[in-house]
Amino acid sequence: MRTLGLIGGMTWHSTVDYYRLINTGVQEKLGGSHSADLVMVSVDFGPIEDMQGRGDWEAMGRLMAGAARTLESAGAEGLIICANTMHRLADDVLAAVRIPLIHIADATAGAVTKKGLATVGLLGTRYTMELDFYRGRLEKAHGLKVIIPEEPGRTAVHDIIYKELAQGIVREESRRAYAAVIRELERRGAQGVILGCTEIPLLIKAADSPIPVFDTTALHAAAAVEFALCCSLSS
Ligand code: GLU
Repeated sequence: MRTLGLIGGMTWHSTVDYYRLINTGVQEKLGGSHSADLVMVSVDFGPIEDMQGRGDWEAMGRLMAGAARTLESAGAEGLIICANTMHRLADDVLAAVRIPLIHIADATAGAVTKKGLATVGLLGTRYTMELDFYRGRLEKAHGLKVIIPEEPGRTAVHDIIYKELAQGIVREESRRAYAAVIRELERRGAQGVILGCTEIPLLIKAADSPIPVFDTTALHAAAAVEFALCCSLSS
């Protein structure tokens, strides 16, 4: 089994799910009491949220590169950034190490394509919805058409992530707000919706949406399991 290196804590509420899903996946494949071989750096999200707010991607790039180097020297053979937004720094991470990064947008796009969908809605932080690092990858590398919410829904989606989900708060009213945004995306042509923030699955399940949902936490964790077990199911 290959050793995974997880950059977690962004936020810890979804990192818990990554840890559970990756270990469950390995146990399902290998049986018995097998579990994942992994190392993790879990960061304090408070200062990261502030840096995001200031747009200080350079400082966050240094932090992520440092975490990646720590994981590589601890024996990691592949890296997982346990968040969508922080994939904005994927290039900084890759430049710091010699091991591969299992990219969350690739894992997600694979599932969308496998389901035969071409047009998807994207929910996430403002950075994920508006900047090119995520949408651009879905569109240019995977040929998908991506629709993001109009205002005021877009701001509501972003605010609910930071003011509630990132703090472990799940409110019924917010679930209804997200469901309304998903209906808007469907009206505008979305055939499915990407839950492009690893905390959104805490709030939205398949039953809350009239169109298929793509849970990026679960899809990324599944890609991590596949990487870990690639080439050998016996070791
Ligand atoms: N976990 C979130 C994501 O998947 C948001 C927290 C962050 O900004 O990293 O984008």
